[in-house]
Amino acid sequence: MPLIPENAPPAFHLLAKPTGAVCNLDCKYCFFLSKEKLYPGSRFRMTDELLETYIKQLLESHRTPEVTIAWQGGEPTLMGLDFFRRAAEYAERYRKPGVKVAYTIQTNGTLLDKEWCEFFREHDFLVGISIDGPEEVHDAYRTDKQGKGTFGRVMRGLRLLQEHGVEYNVLCTVNAANESKPLDVYRFFRDEAGARFIQFIPIVERDNETGFQEGGKVTDRSVGPERWGSFLSAVFDEWVRRDVGTVFVQHFDAALAAWAGYPPGLCVFSPTCGTALALEHNGDLYSCDHFVEPDHYLGNITETSLIELVASEKQLKFGRDKESTLPQYCRKCPVLFVCHGGCPKNRFVETPDGETGLNYLCESYRAFFTHIDRPMRMMADLLRQGRYADEVMQVLAAGEETSGKRTVKAGRNDPCPCGSGLKYKKCCGKINV
Ligand code: SF4
Ligand code: SF4
Repeated sequence: MPLIPENAPPAFHLLAKPTGAVCNLDCKYCFFLSKEKLYPGSRFRMTDELLETYIKQLLESHRTPEVTIAWQGGEPTLMGLDFFRRAAEYAERYRKPGVKVAYTIQTNGTLLDKEWCEFFREHDFLVGISIDGPEEVHDAYRTDKQGKGTFGRVMRGLRLLQEHGVEYNVLCTVNAANESKPLDVYRFFRDEAGARFIQFIPIVERDNETGFQEGGKVTDRSVGPERWGSFLSAVFDEWVRRDVGTVFVQHFDAALAAWAGYPPGLCVFSPTCGTALALEHNGDLYSCDHFVEPDHYLGNITETSLIELVASEKQLKFGRDKESTLPQYCRKCPVLFVCHGGCPKNRFVETPDGETGLNYLCESYRAFFTHIDRPMRMMADLLRQGRYADEVMQVLAAGEETSGKRTVKAGRNDPCPCGSGLKYKKCCGKINV
C-alpha cells in the first residue's frame, strides 16, 4: 500500500489508454493518432502485469466510496473482451471493503457485439459512443482507414447497446462540418439515437507537424472561434424550451451548476484543473489526455506510485496554472465565474490589448454564457427554492404565449420570467429570454 502524500486529492479522474493511440478507424481530426510517434516501435498493448498494477494502485489511491475505472483510446475495444474481464477481476480483488467501482469506456462502437454488450450490462458500464451527428456530417471526418464513412457501423453498435439495456451517452465533436447544423445534430441525437446524455466537444486542432499543442494556427477542420458559441446557443434554445430534465447536455449542466453556486463538475470550467490525467499503455502518466506529450510527462507508475505522481509538484502546478496564467482580459470578464478561461489547451491567441494566453474560443464563450444568463438565473432560482429546474419550460412557454405584450401571468411565487432571480410577486413579469 503506497503512502498517500498529504497534498494528494481524495479522488481524481484517470483515462487509461490500453492501446495507446491505436484505433481501427482514421478520423481526420483525431489528435491521438499522431501520438503513435511518441512510442516508435511499440505494440501499443497494455500488458496483463501492468493492468494489475494499474488497477491496484488506482483503487489504493482513492479515499472515496466510489472509484471510476475509465477506458479510452485510441480504440480500447481493440484489446479484446478478455482484457476487460481481467480488469474487472482485479478491481474486485483490490477494491477496499464497501467501495463501489464504476466503469466507463469511450468507444467508436464499431467493434461491439452481443458479447461486449452483455459484459457491459453485467458490470454496469457507462459506454460513451463517439458520433458527430446524422450520416452526412458524421462521415465528413469520422472515416475508416480506407477513407469510408463509419456512420452505419457506429449506429449498429449503438442499437446493440440499446437492445441490451446498456447505459450510454453520445460524445459529439463540433467541427467545421457540423458547426452550422446544431439543431439537425441535436434532434438526431434526441429523436433518432435516443440519447439522454450528450457531450459536445469543440475541435480545435493545431496545424503543425508535431501533433502537440503548439503554434497559433488551426486546421480548417476546426470549429470557428465564434461558431462553437452559436452552436451551443441554438441547441440550448431548443433544450430549454422542451427537454430540461429529460435530456442532459454536459455543458448546460456545468453552466447551471455555476449559476447555482456549485462546482461545475467539468475541468474546462473549473478555476483550476489537474485531476484528470491520462495513462498510456506502458504505464507512463501524463497531466491530461490533451497533453500526452513530453513536457507533460509525470513518470511511470511501475517506478513511482500513481498517487505520488498525481500529487507531484509538477502536476499540482499544472492544475494551478489554469488560474495563474489567466490574462487580465479574463480576470475582468463578466462571465469569468462560469468560463474560468476555458481549457488551457486552447489558450493560444492574444487578447484585444495584446496579452497572450486568451482562449481561441473566447468569443464563443462570451456570447454563449451571455445568451443563457436569464434562463440560467431562472433555473438556479428554482433550485434554490427546492423546486425542479424543468419548471423553467412552463415559465418560458407562458411568456412566449403573451410575448406580444411582453408580460406574463406567472404564479406569485414563480420565478420572474425576466430572469432576475426574484419571485414574480417581487419583480416585473417581463420576458427577456
Ligand atoms: S488541460 Fe483542459 S482538459 Fe485537461 S484537465 Fe485542464 S481543463 Fe481539463
Ligand atoms: S469568455 Fe473569454 S474573456 Fe471571459 S473568461 Fe472566458 S475566455 Fe476569458
